[in-house]
Amino acid sequence: LFSELDDIPLDPHYALKEDFSADPSPSKVILGSGIYRDKNGMPWVLPTVKEAEEVVKTSEDSGRYDYLPIPGYAPFYTAARGLLFGALSSPEGNFVSVQTISGTGANSLGAHFLSQALKPSAVWLSNPSWVNHANIWKSVGVTVRSYPYWDPERKALAFEDMIQTISLEATPGDVIVLHGCAHNPTGLDPTKDQWTMIANVCESRGLFPFFDCAYQGFASGNLDEDAWALRHFSSRGNMELAVAQSFSKNMGLYGERVGALHFLTASPDAAGKVKRHLLGLQRGLISQPPKRGAMLAATILKDNALFQNWLADLCEMSSRIKCMRQALYDELISLGTPGNWDHILTQASALSK
Ligand code: PMP
Repeated sequence: LFSELDDIPLDPHYALKEDFSADPSPSKVILGSGIYRDKNGMPWVLPTVKEAEEVVKTSEDSGRYDYLPIPGYAPFYTAARGLLFGALSSPEGNFVSVQTISGTGANSLGAHFLSQALKPSAVWLSNPSWVNHANIWKSVGVTVRSYPYWDPERKALAFEDMIQTISLEATPGDVIVLHGCAHNPTGLDPTKDQWTMIANVCESRGLFPFFDCAYQGFASGNLDEDAWALRHFSSRGNMELAVAQSFSKNMGLYGERVGALHFLTASPDAAGKVKRHLLGLQRGLISQPPKRGAMLAATILKDNALFQNWLADLCEMSSRIKCMRQALYDELISLGTPGNWDHILTQASALSK
């Protein structure tokens, strides 16, 4: 049955990881891996997550292995929405939030829903983008197109080309995937003025903005600042949008698969319909999301002392990444390495995967 299948290449990131594992060199280093490591190259469990583990442990009862409801753990997805939308997240009536299998699951559930609800002629991805975006959208049968993003000559954002492409080539009802902050893989984000112009085009062309927010807290080190773009779009009051959210990086909960998908809709009636569609899809795809990671994240988001500790952990990670960028830059310069390395300092810190 399967011998006639076309063979397909491995995802380039995982292919590289396999080559890395097979390489016997004792001094090997992998720079492509999207996982924060400490100075000894070891995984770092955030001290705040350790504290939350203790809280979750003592609150566990005989129901700890029960299923969650289909939309997930409500204290988690409600607090997660607050983290993204801030003061804009109330009143809640126009919002829908569903817990997902981390950011990947949020992108995927969003793509399933939008492919059916909007039947877009295309989804627009930045060139380049996180490799999995194209995979996800192809798997739901939507044509994948790309808008210019990175100008390799200038090592800068190809902003004019981006605006021109989405203004002239995208069709009303198309979906545009935007990286909320710390664009993966370039680490280069639009300025606030540029975001405003992108929002203008989405609004005037009737494009549906789908934010992917996998690095809130990593770009500027400030959670609110990193949510600026999606809050700007939301505050205009006349655009519906979606956000895929991940806690893999900012809480270091990679393997727990903690994430959420949020929709801001035009009315409570629309929100109710979107919710019922999402729950129908979620039921067919995963039935219920996992419990433990969502409880850990909710514990941190809802307890003021733990939240403050988490901010300190986040700051430690983002500032250490900045220091490492500076050290790499300094070394390249002191060795007289040909080329311009300024982008190492100007890019934000996406941990690409
Ligand atoms: N979106 C982007 C842009 C990413 O870089 C990543 C992970 N590298 C994800 C989503 C998903 O990650 P996860 O499924 O671990 O949340």
